[in-house]
Amino acid sequence: MTDEKRNLREEKKNRKCRVCGTRQAVIRKYKLLVCRRCFKEIAGKIGFKKFD
Ligand SMILES: [Zn+2]
Repeated sequence: MTDEKRNLREEKKNRKCRVCGTRQAVIRKYKLLVCRRCFKEIAGKIGFKKFD
């Protein structure tokens, strides 16, 4: 395994919601790095009307 691939793997492994800390259904879009549930909560604050 190359170092590059290993880094990618670690990124996936370490990605978690920065709000509640869960590792399930974490969204990395918009560089928010939050889970779906927290995203819904903060979506309104940052201007997203609805996100499915
Ligand atoms: Zn969360």
